[in-house]
Amino acid sequence: MDRYEQVTELARRRGYMWPAFELYGGAAGFYDYGPLGARLKRRIEDTWRSFFVVREGFSEIDCPTIGVEEIFKASGHLSGFSDPLTECKECKEIYRADHLIKHIIEVPDALSDQEIYRVIQDNDVGCPECGGRLSEVYEFNLMFRTAIGPGNKYPGYLRPETAQGMFINFQRLLRYHRDALPFGAVQIGRSYRNEISPRQGVIRLREFTQAEAEVFIDPRDKTHPRFCEVEELILTLYSRQGQEMGQTERMTIGEAVDKGIIAHQMLAYYVARTYQFLRAAGVAEDRLRFRQHKADEMAHYAADCWDAEVLLDRLGWIEVVGVADRTDYDLRSHMAQSQANLKVFVNYKQPERRRVVRIKPDMKALGPRFKGQAKAVAQALQAMDPADLKESGESVTVHVDGQKLFIEANLIAVEEVEEEVRGEEIVPHVIEPSFGIDRIIYSVLEHAYREEMVDEESRIVLGLLPGIAPVDVAVLPLMDREELTGPACQIVDEFRRMGMIVDYDTSGSIGRRYRRNDEVGTPFCVTVDYETLEEGTVTIRDRDSMKQIRVGVQALGETISALIGKRMTLDEASAALSQGS
Ligand code: AMP
Repeated sequence: MDRYEQVTELARRRGYMWPAFELYGGAAGFYDYGPLGARLKRRIEDTWRSFFVVREGFSEIDCPTIGVEEIFKASGHLSGFSDPLTECKECKEIYRADHLIKHIIEVPDALSDQEIYRVIQDNDVGCPECGGRLSEVYEFNLMFRTAIGPGNKYPGYLRPETAQGMFINFQRLLRYHRDALPFGAVQIGRSYRNEISPRQGVIRLREFTQAEAEVFIDPRDKTHPRFCEVEELILTLYSRQGQEMGQTERMTIGEAVDKGIIAHQMLAYYVARTYQFLRAAGVAEDRLRFRQHKADEMAHYAADCWDAEVLLDRLGWIEVVGVADRTDYDLRSHMAQSQANLKVFVNYKQPERRRVVRIKPDMKALGPRFKGQAKAVAQALQAMDPADLKESGESVTVHVDGQKLFIEANLIAVEEVEEEVRGEEIVPHVIEPSFGIDRIIYSVLEHAYREEMVDEESRIVLGLLPGIAPVDVAVLPLMDREELTGPACQIVDEFRRMGMIVDYDTSGSIGRRYRRNDEVGTPFCVTVDYETLEEGTVTIRDRDSMKQIRVGVQALGETISALIGKRMTLDEASAALSQGS
Protein backbone atom coordinates (compact mmCIF):
# COMPACT_ATOMS: atom_id res chain seq x y z
CA MET A 1 0.00 0.00 0.00
CA ASP A 2 1.34 3.43 -0.86
CA ARG A 3 0.63 6.49 1.26
CA TYR A 4 -2.40 7.47 -0.86
CA GLU A 5 -4.01 4.09 -0.24
CA GLN A 6 -3.14 4.16 3.47
CA VAL A 7 -4.68 7.59 3.92
CA THR A 8 -7.82 6.93 1.88
CA GLU A 9 -8.31 3.59 3.62
CA LEU A 10 -8.00 5.21 7.03
CA ALA A 11 -10.27 8.07 5.96
CA ARG A 12 -12.95 5.63 4.87
CA ARG A 13 -12.69 3.34 7.87
CA ARG A 14 -12.58 6.05 10.51
CA GLY A 15 -15.25 8.36 9.13
CA TYR A 16 -13.29 11.13 7.42
CA MET A 17 -14.50 10.66 3.86
CA TRP A 18 -15.56 8.08 1.34
CA PRO A 19 -16.84 7.91 -2.26
CA ALA A 20 -20.44 9.16 -2.48
CA PHE A 21 -23.49 7.09 -3.47
CA GLU A 22 -21.83 3.82 -2.46
CA LEU A 23 -25.23 2.26 -1.83
CA TYR A 24 -25.97 2.61 -5.55
CA GLY A 25 -22.56 1.72 -6.92
CA GLY A 26 -21.02 5.22 -6.72
CA ALA A 27 -20.16 7.83 -9.34
CA ALA A 28 -16.62 9.04 -9.94
CA GLY A 29 -15.81 12.55 -8.78
CA PHE A 30 -18.17 12.79 -5.80
CA TYR A 31 -17.18 12.33 -2.17
CA ASP A 32 -18.98 12.40 1.17
CA TYR A 33 -17.34 13.83 4.26
CA GLY A 34 -18.19 11.74 7.30
CA PRO A 35 -18.46 12.96 10.90
CA LEU A 36 -14.72 13.57 11.31
CA GLY A 37 -14.19 14.86 7.77
CA ALA A 38 -17.05 17.33 7.90
CA ARG A 39 -15.66 18.75 11.13
CA LEU A 40 -12.12 18.92 9.77
CA LYS A 41 -13.47 20.72 6.71
CA ARG A 42 -15.36 23.21 8.84
CA ARG A 43 -12.24 23.88 10.91
CA ILE A 44 -10.07 24.42 7.85
CA GLU A 45 -12.68 26.76 6.40
CA ASP A 46 -12.89 28.64 9.69
CA THR A 47 -9.10 28.96 9.77
CA TRP A 48 -9.34 30.40 6.26
CA ARG A 49 -12.00 32.83 7.49
CA SER A 50 -9.79 33.88 10.38
CA PHE A 51 -7.09 34.82 7.85
CA PHE A 52 -9.09 36.42 5.09
CA VAL A 53 -12.34 37.62 6.64
CA VAL A 54 -11.18 38.51 10.14
CA ARG A 55 -7.52 39.48 9.62
CA GLU A 56 -7.79 41.04 6.15
CA GLY A 57 -11.24 42.48 6.81
CA PHE A 58 -12.74 41.09 3.58
CA SER A 59 -16.52 40.77 3.28
CA GLU A 60 -17.98 37.30 2.95
CA ILE A 61 -20.94 36.84 0.63
CA ASP A 62 -23.01 33.81 -0.31
CA CYS A 63 -24.45 33.55 -3.83
CA PRO A 64 -26.51 30.95 -5.72
CA THR A 65 -24.62 27.97 -7.11
CA ILE A 66 -26.66 28.12 -10.34
CA GLY A 67 -25.88 31.02 -12.63
CA VAL A 68 -27.61 32.51 -15.68
CA GLU A 69 -25.99 32.20 -19.10
CA GLU A 70 -24.87 35.83 -19.38
CA ILE A 71 -22.44 35.41 -16.49
CA PHE A 72 -20.58 32.64 -18.25
CA LYS A 73 -20.71 34.38 -21.62
CA ALA A 74 -18.91 37.30 -19.99
CA SER A 75 -16.47 35.18 -17.98
CA GLY A 76 -15.47 33.13 -21.00
CA HIS A 77 -16.52 29.82 -19.43
CA LEU A 78 -19.16 29.20 -22.08
CA SER A 79 -16.73 29.44 -24.96
CA GLY A 80 -13.44 28.46 -23.37
CA PHE A 81 -13.83 26.39 -20.21
CA SER A 82 -12.98 23.05 -21.67
CA ASP A 83 -10.42 20.29 -21.43
CA PRO A 84 -8.80 18.32 -24.24
CA LEU A 85 -10.27 14.83 -24.65
CA THR A 86 -9.10 11.75 -26.38
CA GLU A 87 -10.85 8.44 -26.77
CA CYS A 88 -9.44 4.93 -27.04
CA LYS A 89 -10.37 3.57 -30.45
CA GLU A 90 -10.49 0.03 -29.07
CA CYS A 91 -12.13 0.07 -25.61
CA LYS A 92 -13.82 3.51 -26.02
CA GLU A 93 -12.49 4.76 -22.66
CA ILE A 94 -12.22 8.58 -22.53
CA TYR A 95 -9.19 10.42 -21.13
CA ARG A 96 -7.87 13.92 -20.47
CA ALA A 97 -5.37 14.06 -23.29
CA ASP A 98 -3.02 16.44 -21.49
CA HIS A 99 -2.80 14.10 -18.50
CA LEU A 100 -1.58 11.26 -20.70
CA ILE A 101 1.51 13.22 -21.70
CA LYS A 102 2.42 14.72 -18.32
CA HIS A 103 5.44 12.43 -18.05
CA ILE A 104 6.70 13.81 -21.37
CA ILE A 105 5.77 17.51 -21.09
CA GLU A 106 5.87 18.99 -17.59
CA VAL A 107 3.20 21.64 -18.17
CA PRO A 108 1.03 20.54 -21.10
CA ASP A 109 -1.63 23.25 -20.50
CA ALA A 110 0.13 25.53 -22.93
CA LEU A 111 -0.24 23.13 -25.88
CA SER A 112 -3.03 23.26 -28.45
CA ASP A 113 -5.16 20.17 -29.14
CA GLN A 114 -3.17 19.47 -32.30
CA GLU A 115 0.12 19.79 -30.44
CA ILE A 116 -1.03 17.37 -27.72
CA TYR A 117 -2.11 14.90 -30.38
CA ARG A 118 1.27 15.20 -32.05
CA VAL A 119 3.03 14.43 -28.72
CA ILE A 120 0.75 11.38 -28.31
CA GLN A 121 1.62 10.15 -31.79
CA ASP A 122 5.35 10.94 -31.65
CA ASN A 123 5.72 9.12 -28.32
CA ASP A 124 3.41 6.20 -29.11
CA VAL A 125 1.18 6.99 -26.14
CA GLY A 126 -1.59 4.38 -26.02
CA CYS A 127 -4.71 3.76 -23.93
CA PRO A 128 -3.64 3.23 -20.28
CA GLU A 129 -6.32 0.51 -19.94
CA CYS A 130 -5.87 -1.63 -23.04
CA GLY A 131 -2.97 -0.09 -24.93
CA GLY A 132 -5.25 0.72 -27.89
CA ARG A 133 -4.73 3.66 -30.27
CA LEU A 134 -6.05 7.05 -29.20
CA SER A 135 -8.34 9.34 -31.22
CA GLU A 136 -7.60 12.93 -32.22
CA VAL A 137 -7.83 15.43 -29.38
CA TYR A 138 -10.98 17.58 -29.06
CA GLU A 139 -12.47 19.98 -26.50
CA PHE A 140 -15.19 19.22 -23.93
CA ASN A 141 -16.92 22.01 -21.95
CA LEU A 142 -16.75 21.25 -18.24
CA MET A 143 -19.83 23.15 -17.09
CA PHE A 144 -22.93 21.27 -15.93
CA ARG A 145 -25.88 22.70 -17.84
CA THR A 146 -29.42 22.78 -16.55
CA ALA A 147 -32.68 24.59 -17.31
CA ILE A 148 -34.09 27.33 -15.10
CA GLY A 149 -37.84 26.71 -14.85
CA PRO A 150 -39.79 24.38 -17.15
CA GLY A 151 -38.80 24.06 -20.78
CA ASN A 152 -35.46 25.02 -22.23
CA LYS A 153 -35.96 28.76 -22.57
CA TYR A 154 -33.60 29.79 -19.78
CA PRO A 155 -30.43 27.77 -19.58
CA GLY A 156 -28.60 27.78 -16.27
CA TYR A 157 -25.18 26.46 -15.32
CA LEU A 158 -23.83 25.11 -12.07
CA ARG A 159 -21.08 27.58 -11.25
CA PRO A 160 -17.59 26.32 -12.13
CA GLU A 161 -16.04 28.77 -9.63
CA THR A 162 -17.25 30.97 -6.80
CA ALA A 163 -15.44 34.06 -8.10
CA GLN A 164 -18.18 35.25 -10.46
CA GLY A 165 -20.43 36.03 -7.47
CA MET A 166 -18.02 38.76 -6.42
CA PHE A 167 -17.70 40.20 -9.93
CA ILE A 168 -21.39 40.41 -10.77
CA ASN A 169 -22.09 42.02 -7.38
CA PHE A 170 -19.28 44.51 -7.79
CA GLN A 171 -21.47 47.63 -7.79
CA ARG A 172 -23.26 46.65 -4.58
CA LEU A 173 -20.03 45.62 -2.92
CA LEU A 174 -18.39 48.90 -3.91
CA ARG A 175 -21.27 50.85 -2.38
CA TYR A 176 -21.07 48.70 0.76
CA HIS A 177 -17.40 49.67 0.99
CA ARG A 178 -18.34 53.35 0.69
CA ASP A 179 -17.12 53.66 -2.90
CA ALA A 180 -13.47 53.30 -1.95
CA LEU A 181 -10.68 51.00 -3.12
CA PRO A 182 -9.08 48.72 -2.14
CA PHE A 183 -11.56 46.23 -0.73
CA GLY A 184 -11.93 42.47 -0.78
CA ALA A 185 -14.89 40.12 -1.00
CA VAL A 186 -14.83 36.38 -0.48
CA GLN A 187 -16.99 33.36 -0.86
CA ILE A 188 -16.64 29.79 0.39
CA GLY A 189 -18.88 27.35 -1.39
CA ARG A 190 -19.45 24.55 -3.82
CA SER A 191 -18.26 24.65 -7.42
CA TYR A 192 -19.01 22.15 -10.14
CA ARG A 193 -16.91 20.90 -13.02
CA ASN A 194 -17.81 17.91 -15.12
CA GLU A 195 -14.24 16.61 -15.01
CA ILE A 196 -13.43 14.06 -17.66
CA SER A 197 -11.99 11.16 -15.74
CA PRO A 198 -11.69 11.93 -12.04
CA ARG A 199 -9.77 9.10 -10.47
CA GLN A 200 -7.76 10.72 -7.70
CA GLY A 201 -10.14 10.85 -4.74
CA VAL A 202 -10.85 14.38 -3.55
CA ILE A 203 -8.02 15.84 -5.64
CA ARG A 204 -10.23 15.91 -8.73
CA LEU A 205 -13.92 16.15 -7.95
CA ARG A 206 -16.97 17.04 -9.98
CA GLU A 207 -18.42 18.90 -7.01
CA PHE A 208 -15.90 20.56 -4.71
CA THR A 209 -15.47 23.45 -2.31
CA GLN A 210 -13.61 26.60 -3.16
CA ALA A 211 -12.66 29.54 -1.00
CA GLU A 212 -11.94 32.54 -3.19
CA ALA A 213 -11.06 36.12 -2.43
CA GLU A 214 -11.30 38.91 -4.98
CA VAL A 215 -9.29 41.93 -3.92
CA PHE A 216 -10.27 45.01 -5.92
CA ILE A 217 -7.40 47.46 -6.12
CA ASP A 218 -6.40 50.71 -7.77
CA PRO A 219 -4.18 49.61 -10.70
CA ARG A 220 -1.86 52.57 -10.21
CA ASP A 221 -0.75 51.35 -6.81
CA LYS A 222 0.21 47.71 -6.34
CA THR A 223 2.05 48.18 -3.07
CA HIS A 224 0.55 46.78 0.14
CA PRO A 225 0.44 48.86 3.33
CA ARG A 226 1.15 45.82 5.52
CA PHE A 227 3.84 44.26 3.33
CA CYS A 228 6.37 44.79 6.13
CA GLU A 229 4.50 42.15 8.17
CA VAL A 230 5.39 39.41 5.67
CA GLU A 231 8.55 40.53 3.87
CA GLU A 232 10.90 38.47 6.08
CA LEU A 233 8.99 35.24 5.48
CA ILE A 234 11.09 32.61 3.69
CA LEU A 235 9.31 30.58 0.99
CA THR A 236 10.29 27.92 -1.53
CA LEU A 237 9.78 29.51 -4.93
CA TYR A 238 9.76 27.72 -8.26
CA SER A 239 9.98 30.69 -10.56
CA ARG A 240 9.70 30.73 -14.34
CA GLN A 241 13.49 30.87 -14.58
CA GLY A 242 13.86 28.20 -11.89
CA GLN A 243 11.63 25.86 -13.87
CA GLU A 244 13.89 26.18 -16.90
CA MET A 245 16.77 24.96 -14.74
CA GLY A 246 14.63 22.56 -12.70
CA GLN A 247 15.56 24.40 -9.48
CA THR A 248 13.58 25.84 -6.60
CA GLU A 249 14.97 28.65 -4.47
CA ARG A 250 14.42 29.58 -0.84
CA MET A 251 14.11 33.32 -0.41
CA THR A 252 12.26 35.97 1.52
CA ILE A 253 9.12 37.47 0.09
CA GLY A 254 10.81 40.88 0.23
CA GLU A 255 13.72 39.62 -1.87
CA ALA A 256 11.36 38.03 -4.40
CA VAL A 257 9.71 41.40 -4.98
CA ASP A 258 13.00 43.35 -5.02
CA LYS A 259 14.44 41.01 -7.64
CA GLY A 260 11.27 41.24 -9.74
CA ILE A 261 10.55 37.51 -9.38
CA ILE A 262 7.07 38.16 -7.98
CA ALA A 263 5.54 41.00 -9.99
CA HIS A 264 4.62 43.32 -7.12
CA GLN A 265 3.97 43.67 -3.39
CA MET A 266 0.22 43.22 -3.62
CA LEU A 267 0.54 39.77 -5.22
CA ALA A 268 3.47 38.80 -3.00
CA TYR A 269 1.51 39.79 0.11
CA TYR A 270 -1.25 37.29 -0.72
CA VAL A 271 1.28 34.60 -1.66
CA ALA A 272 2.71 35.09 1.84
CA ARG A 273 -0.72 34.96 3.53
CA THR A 274 -1.50 31.82 1.52
CA TYR A 275 1.70 30.25 2.83
CA GLN A 276 0.79 31.15 6.41
CA PHE A 277 -2.72 29.78 6.06
CA LEU A 278 -1.53 26.48 4.56
CA ARG A 279 0.98 26.06 7.37
CA ALA A 280 -1.68 26.88 9.96
CA ALA A 281 -3.90 24.19 8.42
CA GLY A 282 -1.07 21.65 8.69
CA VAL A 283 0.59 21.46 5.24
CA ALA A 284 4.22 20.40 5.76
CA GLU A 285 6.86 23.09 5.17
CA ASP A 286 9.15 20.77 3.17
CA ARG A 287 6.30 19.63 0.89
CA LEU A 288 5.06 23.07 -0.08
CA ARG A 289 6.30 25.32 -2.88
CA PHE A 290 5.05 28.23 -4.95
CA ARG A 291 5.27 27.74 -8.70
CA GLN A 292 5.00 30.65 -11.08
CA HIS A 293 2.91 30.19 -14.21
CA LYS A 294 4.93 30.22 -17.37
CA ALA A 295 4.11 32.99 -19.80
CA ASP A 296 2.32 30.64 -22.23
CA GLU A 297 0.46 28.82 -19.45
CA MET A 298 -1.01 31.96 -17.90
CA ALA A 299 -4.35 33.38 -19.03
CA HIS A 300 -3.64 36.08 -21.63
CA TYR A 301 -4.98 38.86 -19.40
CA ALA A 302 -3.12 37.86 -16.22
CA ALA A 303 -0.10 39.90 -15.14
CA ASP A 304 1.45 37.23 -12.91
CA CYS A 305 0.25 34.02 -11.29
CA TRP A 306 1.65 31.71 -8.60
CA ASP A 307 0.27 28.33 -7.59
CA ALA A 308 0.77 26.89 -4.14
CA GLU A 309 1.72 23.27 -4.81
CA VAL A 310 1.96 20.47 -2.27
CA LEU A 311 3.92 17.29 -2.68
CA LEU A 312 1.83 14.14 -2.39
CA ASP A 313 3.20 10.66 -2.26
CA ARG A 314 1.50 9.14 -5.28
CA LEU A 315 0.42 12.19 -7.20
CA GLY A 316 3.55 14.37 -7.07
CA TRP A 317 3.25 18.15 -6.95
CA ILE A 318 -0.43 19.19 -6.97
CA GLU A 319 -1.87 22.70 -7.20
CA VAL A 320 -3.98 23.55 -4.16
CA VAL A 321 -4.19 27.35 -4.48
CA GLY A 322 -3.79 29.82 -7.34
CA VAL A 323 -2.85 33.43 -6.59
CA ALA A 324 -3.21 35.67 -9.64
CA ASP A 325 -3.16 39.29 -10.69
CA ARG A 326 -6.14 39.14 -13.09
CA THR A 327 -5.84 42.83 -14.03
CA ASP A 328 -9.16 44.41 -15.09
CA TYR A 329 -10.24 41.46 -17.25
CA ASP A 330 -13.24 40.28 -15.20
CA LEU A 331 -14.81 43.67 -14.61
CA ARG A 332 -14.25 44.76 -18.20
CA SER A 333 -15.84 41.55 -19.49
CA HIS A 334 -18.92 42.09 -17.32
CA MET A 335 -19.06 45.75 -18.35
CA ALA A 336 -19.13 44.72 -21.99
CA GLN A 337 -21.76 42.01 -21.43
CA SER A 338 -24.06 43.95 -19.07
CA GLN A 339 -23.45 47.53 -20.32
CA ALA A 340 -23.25 48.56 -16.64
CA ASN A 341 -20.63 51.02 -15.46
CA LEU A 342 -18.27 49.11 -13.21
CA LYS A 343 -15.75 51.92 -12.98
CA VAL A 344 -14.69 53.61 -9.78
CA PHE A 345 -13.88 57.28 -9.30
CA VAL A 346 -10.49 57.51 -7.66
CA ASN A 347 -9.06 60.73 -6.27
CA TYR A 348 -5.55 61.85 -7.18
CA LYS A 349 -3.24 62.30 -4.19
CA GLN A 350 -3.07 65.98 -5.14
CA PRO A 351 -5.75 67.60 -7.33
CA GLU A 352 -4.21 68.48 -10.69
CA ARG A 353 -4.64 71.74 -12.61
CA ARG A 354 -5.34 71.08 -16.28
CA ARG A 355 -6.26 73.18 -19.29
CA VAL A 356 -9.50 71.80 -20.69
CA VAL A 357 -11.80 72.80 -23.52
CA ARG A 358 -15.33 73.64 -22.36
CA ILE A 359 -18.55 74.64 -24.10
CA LYS A 360 -19.84 78.05 -22.98
CA PRO A 361 -23.50 78.70 -23.84
CA ASP A 362 -24.50 82.35 -24.38
CA MET A 363 -27.08 82.68 -21.56
CA LYS A 364 -28.05 86.23 -22.59
CA ALA A 365 -29.34 84.88 -25.87
CA LEU A 366 -30.63 81.49 -24.60
CA GLY A 367 -32.61 83.00 -21.66
CA PRO A 368 -35.18 85.06 -23.61
CA ARG A 369 -35.43 82.40 -26.27
CA PHE A 370 -36.00 79.25 -24.17
CA LYS A 371 -37.29 80.87 -20.95
CA GLY A 372 -37.95 78.11 -18.33
CA GLN A 373 -36.02 75.57 -20.40
CA ALA A 374 -32.91 77.75 -20.78
CA LYS A 375 -31.02 76.16 -17.89
CA ALA A 376 -31.71 72.63 -19.13
CA VAL A 377 -30.61 73.64 -22.64
CA ALA A 378 -27.37 75.09 -21.27
CA GLN A 379 -26.70 71.90 -19.31
CA ALA A 380 -27.36 69.71 -22.36
CA LEU A 381 -24.91 71.81 -24.37
CA GLN A 382 -22.25 71.64 -21.66
CA ALA A 383 -22.56 67.84 -21.54
CA MET A 384 -21.60 67.64 -25.21
CA ASP A 385 -18.08 66.85 -26.32
CA PRO A 386 -16.50 70.07 -27.74
CA ALA A 387 -14.98 67.94 -30.50
CA ASP A 388 -18.49 66.99 -31.76
CA LEU A 389 -19.52 70.63 -31.74
CA LYS A 390 -16.87 71.54 -34.28
CA GLU A 391 -18.37 69.09 -36.76
CA SER A 392 -22.00 70.03 -36.22
CA GLY A 393 -22.10 72.90 -38.75
CA GLU A 394 -24.53 75.81 -38.44
CA SER A 395 -26.80 74.46 -35.72
CA VAL A 396 -26.61 72.04 -32.84
CA THR A 397 -29.36 69.62 -31.77
CA VAL A 398 -30.11 68.93 -28.12
CA HIS A 399 -32.87 66.91 -26.42
CA VAL A 400 -34.65 68.56 -23.51
CA ASP A 401 -37.81 67.21 -21.85
CA GLY A 402 -38.35 64.87 -24.78
CA GLN A 403 -38.17 67.78 -27.24
CA LYS A 404 -35.65 68.13 -30.03
CA LEU A 405 -34.27 71.70 -30.05
CA PHE A 406 -32.00 73.42 -32.60
CA ILE A 407 -29.52 76.01 -31.42
CA GLU A 408 -27.51 78.18 -33.79
CA ALA A 409 -23.80 77.64 -33.56
CA ASN A 410 -23.16 81.35 -32.99
CA LEU A 411 -24.96 81.12 -29.62
CA ILE A 412 -22.33 78.71 -28.35
CA ALA A 413 -18.71 79.53 -27.66
CA VAL A 414 -15.88 77.12 -27.03
CA GLU A 415 -13.28 78.25 -24.53
CA GLU A 416 -10.15 76.82 -22.99
CA VAL A 417 -10.09 77.07 -19.21
CA GLU A 418 -7.82 75.89 -16.43
CA GLU A 419 -9.60 73.52 -14.09
CA GLU A 420 -8.85 71.58 -10.97
CA VAL A 421 -9.19 67.83 -11.63
CA ARG A 422 -9.70 65.79 -8.46
CA GLY A 423 -9.36 62.32 -9.96
CA GLU A 424 -10.56 59.99 -12.66
CA GLU A 425 -12.68 56.91 -13.33
CA ILE A 426 -10.76 53.64 -13.48
CA VAL A 427 -11.57 49.96 -13.81
CA PRO A 428 -10.13 48.23 -10.72
CA HIS A 429 -7.64 45.42 -11.02
CA VAL A 430 -8.27 42.17 -9.20
CA ILE A 431 -5.89 40.05 -7.13
CA GLU A 432 -7.40 36.61 -6.68
CA PRO A 433 -6.26 33.97 -4.21
CA SER A 434 -8.32 30.88 -5.07
CA PHE A 435 -8.21 27.88 -2.70
CA GLY A 436 -9.36 24.32 -3.31
CA ILE A 437 -10.54 23.23 0.14
CA ASP A 438 -10.83 19.49 -0.63
CA ARG A 439 -7.29 19.29 -1.96
CA ILE A 440 -6.05 21.09 1.13
CA ILE A 441 -7.94 18.64 3.37
CA TYR A 442 -6.39 15.66 1.63
CA SER A 443 -2.89 17.20 1.76
CA VAL A 444 -3.26 17.95 5.46
CA LEU A 445 -4.30 14.34 6.10
CA GLU A 446 -1.46 12.89 4.04
CA HIS A 447 1.17 15.19 5.55
CA ALA A 448 -0.12 14.37 9.04
CA TYR A 449 -0.02 10.61 8.49
CA ARG A 450 2.89 8.70 9.98
CA GLU A 451 3.60 5.17 11.03
CA GLU A 452 6.11 4.46 13.79
CA MET A 453 7.29 1.46 15.79
CA VAL A 454 6.53 1.46 19.50
CA ASP A 455 7.55 -1.60 21.53
CA GLU A 456 7.82 -3.59 18.31
CA GLU A 457 4.28 -2.66 17.39
CA SER A 458 3.38 -0.29 14.64
CA ARG A 459 1.53 2.84 15.67
CA ILE A 460 -0.35 4.95 13.13
CA VAL A 461 -0.60 8.62 14.02
CA LEU A 462 -2.49 11.39 12.32
CA GLY A 463 -0.50 14.34 13.61
CA LEU A 464 -3.19 16.95 12.92
CA LEU A 465 -2.62 20.28 14.64
CA PRO A 466 -4.64 20.92 17.80
CA GLY A 467 -7.48 23.23 16.83
CA ILE A 468 -7.57 21.70 13.32
CA ALA A 469 -8.04 18.07 14.43
CA PRO A 470 -11.77 17.28 14.39
CA VAL A 471 -11.83 16.03 17.97
CA ASP A 472 -10.20 18.26 20.57
CA VAL A 473 -9.99 15.77 23.37
CA ALA A 474 -11.08 12.22 24.18
CA VAL A 475 -12.29 11.30 27.65
CA LEU A 476 -11.60 7.68 28.53
CA PRO A 477 -12.65 5.98 31.75
CA LEU A 478 -10.04 3.31 32.48
CA MET A 479 -12.84 0.77 32.75
CA ASP A 480 -16.51 0.78 31.87
CA ARG A 481 -17.61 0.92 35.53
CA GLU A 482 -20.04 3.36 37.01
CA GLU A 483 -17.62 4.75 39.63
CA LEU A 484 -15.37 5.84 36.73
CA THR A 485 -17.91 6.66 34.03
CA GLY A 486 -19.78 9.03 36.40
CA PRO A 487 -16.85 11.46 36.91
CA ALA A 488 -15.77 10.97 33.25
CA CYS A 489 -19.19 12.13 32.04
CA GLN A 490 -18.94 15.19 34.25
CA ILE A 491 -15.61 16.05 32.61
CA VAL A 492 -17.15 15.54 29.16
CA ASP A 493 -19.93 17.90 30.12
CA GLU A 494 -17.54 20.57 31.35
CA PHE A 495 -15.43 20.37 28.16
CA ARG A 496 -18.52 20.65 25.99
CA ARG A 497 -19.70 23.66 27.96
CA MET A 498 -16.31 25.22 27.23
CA GLY A 499 -16.95 24.74 23.50
CA MET A 500 -14.67 21.77 22.87
CA ILE A 501 -15.44 18.80 20.64
CA VAL A 502 -15.14 15.73 22.84
CA ASP A 503 -15.16 12.03 22.14
CA TYR A 504 -16.21 9.76 24.97
CA ASP A 505 -15.14 6.16 24.62
CA THR A 506 -15.46 3.19 26.97
CA SER A 507 -14.99 0.35 24.52
CA GLY A 508 -11.96 -1.99 24.60
CA SER A 509 -8.68 -1.78 26.47
CA ILE A 510 -7.19 1.62 27.24
CA GLY A 511 -4.24 0.82 24.94
CA ARG A 512 -6.57 0.19 22.03
CA ARG A 513 -8.47 3.37 22.71
CA TYR A 514 -5.21 5.36 22.70
CA ARG A 515 -4.30 3.78 19.36
CA ARG A 516 -7.70 4.59 17.91
CA ASN A 517 -7.39 8.21 18.97
CA ASP A 518 -3.83 8.40 17.60
CA GLU A 519 -5.16 7.15 14.29
CA VAL A 520 -7.95 9.71 14.02
CA GLY A 521 -5.66 12.50 15.19
CA THR A 522 -7.10 13.40 18.60
CA PRO A 523 -4.31 15.48 20.15
CA PHE A 524 -5.10 14.76 23.82
CA CYS A 525 -6.72 11.97 25.80
CA VAL A 526 -7.91 12.38 29.37
CA THR A 527 -8.03 9.16 31.37
CA VAL A 528 -10.15 8.76 34.48
CA ASP A 529 -8.84 6.02 36.79
CA TYR A 530 -9.00 4.96 40.42
CA GLU A 531 -6.58 7.70 41.45
CA THR A 532 -9.19 10.15 40.21
CA LEU A 533 -11.52 8.92 42.90
CA GLU A 534 -8.86 8.98 45.60
CA GLU A 535 -6.77 12.03 44.68
CA GLY A 536 -9.01 14.04 42.36
CA THR A 537 -6.50 13.84 39.48
CA VAL A 538 -6.64 12.54 35.88
CA THR A 539 -3.95 11.89 33.24
CA ILE A 540 -3.55 13.90 30.09
CA ARG A 541 -1.85 11.91 27.34
CA ASP A 542 -0.18 13.73 24.47
CA ARG A 543 -0.70 12.02 21.10
CA ASP A 544 2.64 12.94 19.54
CA SER A 545 5.06 12.23 22.39
CA MET A 546 2.80 9.73 24.20
CA LYS A 547 3.90 11.52 27.38
CA GLN A 548 1.44 11.64 30.24
CA ILE A 549 1.00 14.19 33.00
CA ARG A 550 -1.31 14.10 36.01
CA VAL A 551 -3.55 17.08 36.52
CA GLY A 552 -6.01 17.98 39.25
CA VAL A 553 -9.59 17.88 37.95
CA GLN A 554 -10.00 21.51 39.03
CA ALA A 555 -7.26 22.67 36.63
CA LEU A 556 -8.19 20.27 33.81
CA GLY A 557 -10.45 22.48 31.66
CA GLU A 558 -8.01 25.36 31.72
CA THR A 559 -4.99 23.14 30.96
CA ILE A 560 -6.63 21.36 28.01
CA SER A 561 -7.84 24.64 26.59
CA ALA A 562 -4.28 26.10 26.85
CA LEU A 563 -2.85 22.99 25.15
CA ILE A 564 -5.36 23.10 22.29
CA GLY A 565 -4.99 26.85 21.88
CA LYS A 566 -1.20 26.23 21.69
CA ARG A 567 -0.70 28.71 24.48
CA MET A 568 1.26 26.02 26.31
CA THR A 569 3.16 22.82 25.57
CA LEU A 570 2.70 19.66 27.59
CA ASP A 571 6.06 20.24 29.34
CA GLU A 572 5.11 23.81 30.22
CA ALA A 573 1.75 22.60 31.53
CA SER A 574 3.52 19.97 33.60
CA ALA A 575 5.96 22.54 35.03
CA ALA A 576 3.17 24.98 35.83
CA LEU A 577 1.17 22.29 37.59
CA SER A 578 4.07 21.10 39.74
CA GLN A 579 4.84 24.71 40.71
CA GLY A 580 1.23 25.24 41.68
CA SER A 581 0.96 22.07 43.74
P1 AMP B 1 -8.83 27.02 -10.72
O1 AMP B 1 -10.01 27.93 -10.83
O2 AMP B 1 -8.83 25.92 -11.74
O3 AMP B 1 -7.52 27.74 -10.62
O4 AMP B 1 -9.03 26.25 -9.34
C1 AMP B 1 -8.81 26.85 -8.11
C2 AMP B 1 -8.51 25.80 -7.09
O5 AMP B 1 -9.63 24.90 -6.98
C3 AMP B 1 -7.34 24.89 -7.47
O6 AMP B 1 -6.14 25.39 -6.96
C4 AMP B 1 -7.70 23.58 -6.85
O7 AMP B 1 -7.20 23.53 -5.53
C5 AMP B 1 -9.19 23.58 -6.81
N1 AMP B 1 -9.78 22.71 -7.84
C6 AMP B 1 -9.89 22.96 -9.16
N2 AMP B 1 -10.51 21.94 -9.79
C7 AMP B 1 -10.79 21.01 -8.85
C8 AMP B 1 -11.42 19.73 -8.85
N3 AMP B 1 -11.91 19.21 -9.97
N4 AMP B 1 -11.54 19.05 -7.69
C9 AMP B 1 -11.06 19.56 -6.54
N5 AMP B 1 -10.47 20.77 -6.47
C10 AMP B 1 -10.33 21.49 -7.59
